[in-house]
Amino acid sequence: DPRISNISSAIRVIPDFPKPGIIFQDITTLLLDTKAFRDTIDLFVERYRGKDISVVAGIEARGFIFGPPIALAIGAKFVPMRKPNKLPGEVLSEEYSLEYGKDTMEMHVDAVKAGERALIIDDLVATGGTLSAAIRLLERVGVHVVECACVIELPELKGREWLGEKPLFVLVSST
Ligand code: 5GP
Repeated sequence: DPRISNISSAIRVIPDFPKPGIIFQDITTLLLDTKAFRDTIDLFVERYRGKDISVVAGIEARGFIFGPPIALAIGAKFVPMRKPNKLPGEVLSEEYSLEYGKDTMEMHVDAVKAGERALIIDDLVATGGTLSAAIRLLERVGVHVVECACVIELPELKGREWLGEKPLFVLVSST
């Protein structure tokens, strides 16, 4: 798709952020490029429209940027998957491993119903640990996760292997 190369060029790469040795993929520059940002949303909407998806689950924080416009366009609700102690209602929690240490993800239990079909959105997949936690949260309440979708994949970190059978769709692979 000719739109992909513009999206890829609109992502800024910043070495040694947030610490030495990390090459950070900065999607804020993609948001400044109105055509590339629109194309990003359109590519996801074209893929997921008409697939009977009623839930778009977005992962804090950058899944909150890409998820809502996709949800509105495909006629699904948006469900935030948040860092701990942010959601006021009854939550389900799932712990997951980071490069150093652990983190927790939370979801409102009454946001979804068993049998619903969900799409999970984040900006970037590295090891796949974050997406895996989101899959577990949704599956614990009987939601079917149709696919995970990210703007960027870092294939060297083999996130796809962590996700096992679960399909992962990305627009840009970064080596
Ligand atoms: P994983 O759990 O797959 O190892 O890491 C993915 C999570 O880390 C995502 O929520 C993503 O936002 C964040 N992340 C890790 N590295 C980067 C990066 O270089 N750029 C951006 N934008 N996010 C990153």
